[in-house]
Amino acid sequence: MSEEVDWSGIAAQYGTPTYVYDGDWLVENLDALRAALHPSLEVFYSLKSNPNRGVYDVLHSAGARAEVSSLAELRIVLEAGTDPYDIVFLGPGKSEQEITACVAGGIYAIVCESFAELDLIDRTAAEHGVRQRVLLRVNPAFSIAGSRLTMGGKPRQFGIDEAELLTAGPALAAYRHADVAGVQVYLGTRILDADVIVRNTAHILDIAERIARATGIRLEAVDIGGGLGVPYFDGEHELDAAALAKDLNPLLDAFAAAHPDTRLIMESGRYLTALGGTYLMRVRYTKESMGERFAVADGGTHHHMAAVGIGSFVKRNFPVGLLSRRTDPAEAVGPWNVAGPLCTPNDTIAKGVALPELQPGDLIGVLRSGAYGPSASPVYFLSHGYPAEVVLRRGRSYLVRTRDTADDILAKQATHPELRRNGNTD
Ligand SMILES: *Cc1c(COP(=O)(O)O)cnc(C)c1O
Repeated sequence: MSEEVDWSGIAAQYGTPTYVYDGDWLVENLDALRAALHPSLEVFYSLKSNPNRGVYDVLHSAGARAEVSSLAELRIVLEAGTDPYDIVFLGPGKSEQEITACVAGGIYAIVCESFAELDLIDRTAAEHGVRQRVLLRVNPAFSIAGSRLTMGGKPRQFGIDEAELLTAGPALAAYRHADVAGVQVYLGTRILDADVIVRNTAHILDIAERIARATGIRLEAVDIGGGLGVPYFDGEHELDAAALAKDLNPLLDAFAAAHPDTRLIMESGRYLTALGGTYLMRVRYTKESMGERFAVADGGTHHHMAAVGIGSFVKRNFPVGLLSRRTDPAEAVGPWNVAGPLCTPNDTIAKGVALPELQPGDLIGVLRSGAYGPSASPVYFLSHGYPAEVVLRRGRSYLVRTRDTADDILAKQATHPELRRNGNTD
């Protein structure tokens, strides 16, 4: 994220709390990843990590393809003008309506997660008189350590067990309208070690070849998942894209040479957005309690659930900074607890972080917050609603989502006269 942002100007124009995404950074980061990785590897952006249309527009304009998991995400990418050939739809509980929308939209592939779903895709495609390409999501028999959330080697609602696919025989290739044309494997998220990704990928390519051999399906596409991580906390290091490329590219090169017509797909959400976003809040009150200082801000964990703590019992702080004024490096910093407006002690964005003397009106930002922000947070808790979202691009700012108002929230609720009448009989 650029250091040269006019935070006070943004806060004055759009109010706070607001998520701010740096579109220039999004493009540079995607370009750098694609330049490092093997040219035959196509990067599909996982909208789950940040489904904002403005963010997607920027990534799409820079060449990202789309991996979606709901009807709304599918509509976002279609309305953004994405070539259906560059869309895959994935998720364990797809509705008939979603499958129909995929077929009607002519998307490249549905990533299928069960045999029952495969039957439904086959029927739906038949009704539309088309063949729908399908990639089979594999639940691998074992997984490789090193990811924060390991998939594989465990009973899962995701995908079809590797052993079942290996023994499925010619039935897989025999569907008339579900065109089984490859496999997908997703082995985890928040992976920071290049070596783990390389070993995962080797494992995935091997699974794909073995399933193709055992069942006779062709490999028109292999989706190697993703899970590229970013560091959030002290002691975490950046994923080394150069080191990743050095070992991953020869592997992909060998596979591409053996399968020159196979599309190689990588999914990525967090890596493409996390470091490009800041959650901007304004301090409302400062106070002391039993010797600790608190800054109570207008934003909180209802917009930033990850700040509550992810994957750990000990609270680890996201990087937090004072953004409204330049601070003298000699200025004293001290421990601050940054809290939000919710009536729960969990609404602590950061605990004991080193910040300069804070005053009401100061702007503070939670950095590295572009992924799994408001869309992955309980935005309706205490009926506050969604924050505003802004994209910066080429020196200008764009409002890409308006802040929910109390009217927006009330409009969704319904009242009935019977519910307002006291007593137990009609
Ligand atoms: C969540 C998810 C992603 C995106 O993961 P990131 O860690 O954000 O890159 C990709 N593929 C699948 C199948 C997922 O469930």
